[in-house]
Amino acid sequence: MNRLLWKETHTDNSAPPWPCNSCGRGAFALVPKSLIYKETAWSKRARKSDDWDPDWITYSFTAWVKCNNPSCGEEAAVLGNGGVNYHYEEGEAVGKFDYFSPLFCTPMPDIFELPKKCPNEIASELRAAFALFWSDSSASANRVRVALEALMNHLRIPKRRKNNKGKFSKLTLHDRIVVFSVNESRIGGQLMALKWLCNTGSHSGKVMPDDVLDAFEILEQALLELIEHRSKRLAALAQGLTEKHRPGARKRRLLF
Ligand SMILES: [Zn+2]
Repeated sequence: MNRLLWKETHTDNSAPPWPCNSCGRGAFALVPKSLIYKETAWSKRARKSDDWDPDWITYSFTAWVKCNNPSCGEEAAVLGNGGVNYHYEEGEAVGKFDYFSPLFCTPMPDIFELPKKCPNEIASELRAAFALFWSDSSASANRVRVALEALMNHLRIPKRRKNNKGKFSKLTLHDRIVVFSVNESRIGGQLMALKWLCNTGSHSGKVMPDDVLDAFEILEQALLELIEHRSKRLAALAQGLTEKHRPGARKRRLLF
């Protein structure tokens, strides 16, 4: 996952090269002259203040981006806000430029590549989290929480537990991650960290975009391990190469 890509802004002639979900090979580029921006009414009124400075300016914008893979050509609509920033050289402002921060893109690119075998229940929640990433970090973290529940379901971690009196009680996400951690303590610890972030998101605490990117980065690796079994697959490949190519093995092959 390229974190910087999701924090980049547009200019009036360029867009961040987000990956295209439709073909899985191309990247989006700004459709020339498609970015249209207007200064907000608040921003126009603020110009009357004696303290006004260009970095008070706020814009709303819309734009189109298009996949650069000629056989795909997927187009996506982008909406957001913007403003004016200064170029600095050795601490001195030497010029200014307009920037445009996306809030929504539809269809939304995947912020990290989902494993090919990722179950739909997990993928749909993660894609909802991606769609909310720029506009509402806390809501995005909440969808990560639902994706974690779906992951626990996929891994067949029980949803309820029998107590001493023989009655069933519901297990919380926290309880389910504890159960999962018995056999997978390393990944379990990482998923628990995500759960703490999601708690902050659902209790109106402040979740920063970087926190959500941390969560996506952890989830990307956890899904590769739990759905694609990457480490086990690499270990098997390494074992195969060792058996085939280590000097002793080669000699034995020649002898027989
Ligand atoms: Zn494409």
